[in-house]
Amino acid sequence: MTDPFPFPRIRAILIDLDGVLFRGNTALPAASDFIQFLREQGIAFRLITNNATLTPSQYVAKLHSIGILIEVEELFTSALATGLYMKQQGASGDSAYVIGEDGLRSALIESGVRLTDGDADWVVVGLDRQVTYDRLARAALAVEAGARFVGSNPDVSFPTEAGLVPGAGALQAVISATTGVDPVVVGKPQPLMFELAMEQLGSIRESTAMLGDRLDTDIQGAQAVGLASIMVLTGVSTRSDLEHSAVQPTLVVDDLPVLIGLWKKALEA
Ligand SMILES: [Mg+2]
Repeated sequence: MTDPFPFPRIRAILIDLDGVLFRGNTALPAASDFIQFLREQGIAFRLITNNATLTPSQYVAKLHSIGILIEVEELFTSALATGLYMKQQGASGDSAYVIGEDGLRSALIESGVRLTDGDADWVVVGLDRQVTYDRLARAALAVEAGARFVGSNPDVSFPTEAGLVPGAGALQAVISATTGVDPVVVGKPQPLMFELAMEQLGSIRESTAMLGDRLDTDIQGAQAVGLASIMVLTGVSTRSDLEHSAVQPTLVVDDLPVLIGLWKKALEA
């Protein structure tokens, strides 16, 4: 049996974080070795995450604390992608009413967007654990008044120890339900996230792969933009999910040690 995964032509890889490199506050086996392997092989990478609450430096600190050494530039959050998207849409100098935390706010400021609590050209909504009815109401009023509506990522919920709680998508849904306007959403599985990450890497589809743990975001999104995809079984999606899914990754591996082994073997062949 031959391995259909095109390892030799992969020169860049987009890597999901939670369920791939770590779980909660624990690094997964060989997470650090995998990053090291990519560096040794000169394979470019970006760690891509829908989490828009942390800034890249906050993420670097979190990863360092569990033994994964990466540089600020190697992170690509949906907050950065949102800032980049808006910049490309000519938003530099525009004003934005933002529901979101540090990660989103600082990314927009870096893109030259002015954050305001008054009249806004844009309404940008990510996860905000301090959100109030008043802020949701103001965001809805701004969208009604014609502001462009953008969502950092579509996740309607996220897991906590107590169970699922509302995510960025749930907050966007409040404004959509109120105004009848749907946001342009940037994060996975939207093509924008993958396209902007590739732009950052300077990579092309043919030589770029996506590595993730979720069929419905990582793998489905990668497929939609024509990227080869690798699914690890250390996160959300399971083998039984795979059996019932129309979306199938190019390669499935149990974990990162297996992936490193296969990749090394393919390069030696
Ligand atoms: Mg994940």
